[in-house]
Amino acid sequence: MIDFHTHTPIWRGTSWLGGTTFSADDFIDFMDTCGIDRAVVLSHDGLFDSTPEANDDLARFVAQYPDRLIGFGTYSPRKPSAAAEIERTFTELGLRGVKLHPWLQGFSVHEVALDPILEVVATHNGLVLCHDGTPPYATPTQIATLARRHPNVPIILGHGGLHDLWREALVCTQDTENLYLCICGTPPYAAKTILDRAPAHKVLFGTDAGLSDKASQDFAVARIREIDEWGVTPEQRQAMLVDNPRRLLEKSTR
Ligand SMILES: [Zn+2]
Repeated sequence: MIDFHTHTPIWRGTSWLGGTTFSADDFIDFMDTCGIDRAVVLSHDGLFDSTPEANDDLARFVAQYPDRLIGFGTYSPRKPSAAAEIERTFTELGLRGVKLHPWLQGFSVHEVALDPILEVVATHNGLVLCHDGTPPYATPTQIATLARRHPNVPIILGHGGLHDLWREALVCTQDTENLYLCICGTPPYAAKTILDRAPAHKVLFGTDAGLSDKASQDFAVARIREIDEWGVTPEQRQAMLVDNPRRLLEKSTR
């Protein structure tokens, strides 16, 4: 399976989450334990304090297992150098997408500062994964408007609306051509409804692994086990865990 939402377990002390940094070897051991073949790895520290160093950390981390780890960089869109830093994450660091976190990074996706960043992503056939599900910023509808402004960039709702906004996430995914949805922290009753009603090629799955220290990764294992309780069909499972993520990642390398 491909896990489309994990984080680098590297902390420079800027976050209230996390703990003791663990290595790429440990992360791969964890993936093997729960049957994850490949993982999209997002920054962690960079969401709390955007620095080029956080992107460098991420690039070094995924470069240790290039066949299994796919890195997405990040940078606060309000920083004047944001578009240049995102350009660097593609050209110099070889990352394949951008993670945006309107809540932690403190911006609205309606701000025009997003546009040059999305244009850079489009130039490199990259992907955008945006945290969603937490008002006032990061509602699925707001993120759908960003997708409509940039129809050439696939944008993924990183949490499928979480607990409060999953219905909105579903409708936005149905109505917006280039908007995708990652079930990650979405409750089981919502996950099943999403799988039954969203366009079949648009649903992904993620665990949020790496968000806290090594001893706490059992939350990610539980999210994988939980899939068995959703009542998914073999076709839905194959699409969500294998075919859909693979298709999107292939697009990002063309
Ligand atoms: Zn996350």
